[in-house]
Amino acid sequence: MNNVFVYIETEGGKVADVSLELLTKGRELADRLGCKLEALALGHELKEMDKIVGRYGADTLWLADDAELAPYRTLPHTAVVCGIFEEEKPQIALFGATPVGRDLAPRVSSTLRSGLTADCTSLVIGDHTDAKSGRSYENLLYQIRPAFGGNIIATIVNPDHRPQMATVREGVMRKEELKEPKHPEVKRVDVAKFVKESDLVVKIIDRHIEERGIDIKNAPVIVAGGYGMGSKENFAMLHELADLLGGEVGASRAAVDAGFTDHARQVGQTGVTVRPKLYIACGISGQIQHTAGMDQASIVIAINTDPEAPINKFADYVITGSALEVVPKMIKFYKQNSK
Ligand code: FAD
Repeated sequence: MNNVFVYIETEGGKVADVSLELLTKGRELADRLGCKLEALALGHELKEMDKIVGRYGADTLWLADDAELAPYRTLPHTAVVCGIFEEEKPQIALFGATPVGRDLAPRVSSTLRSGLTADCTSLVIGDHTDAKSGRSYENLLYQIRPAFGGNIIATIVNPDHRPQMATVREGVMRKEELKEPKHPEVKRVDVAKFVKESDLVVKIIDRHIEERGIDIKNAPVIVAGGYGMGSKENFAMLHELADLLGGEVGASRAAVDAGFTDHARQVGQTGVTVRPKLYIACGISGQIQHTAGMDQASIVIAINTDPEAPINKFADYVITGSALEVVPKMIKFYKQNSK
């Protein structure tokens, strides 16, 4: 039985969160398929990688540690990943839908002629019968993602080519350490075997890394504002509430497009995917493109003047009224009742 592979993305030796999320999902898929989960880490001076990937369920670690593999460059990474995949023939290969994953996964899939589904929101194992030929397939990877502007959820299968490849955006899937960590078998990759001189033609002369000032992804509480907030000035009350609750401010695309706040705060299909403990949606209608980015929040409070607003279907608590009146009351109440 061929195995499930996860590409482990590293920057400065640190593993990207999305790779750990994919290991958690990969473990679930491998258990369902009765095969192994293999992590493929490329970079330089990668320390304790076996312990890290073992905590998230990897049975095997392929370790390609070489100065030519950090920082990331398309050609050497493609050469190593394709080389390993050609030898090991995984049935499933998962990548983060990060700038690196979005660059690398299509290269790998076109080299291997395997096909690729980008930006999946769910991955499940299931059977499939081809409507034309009547042929049945067992245990395919259902690659599930919004399509046609988020108006439908498409399930994509790849019966004929391997690996079945998918990218998944950061934050979409849960990241969970095993209670009993695995002790993966470490297989050191002979990088020189796969990387040719011509793969090294691109030289990195200088790098400048801009720290992202706003990071709503890991906030435990998000106070999000939509077009219904009415203005940039009214967003100030959302910041005040978020500060009081130890959270961050999020926004709908309509609010971002109207200039009420920064794009980095946009939640949804073309923004960030979040899963906070508490999500307070203020003046947000709840279109599917928005809810795709927040429907995993533990508790949702919706504040909307429209009692029929679609966001109310996702909400644990609905407050029907103007956010411009409700939010200041929440701030006042919280200040009065917290020490
Ligand atoms: P509206 O739909 O205009 O809703 C405003 C809401 O505020 C209404 O429900 C109204 O009843 C309420 N309201 C008005 N006044 C008040 C008040 N005083 N107090 C309380 N409530 C009030 N959207 C995203 O958010 N994120 C995305 O990533 C995203 N990606 C997209 C990708 C594509 C390809 C497409 C086609 C669209 C995308 N959208 C995205 C846009 C999405 O379809 C909606 O247009 C958008 O989410 C609407 O934002 P909104 O709810 O703030 O505005």
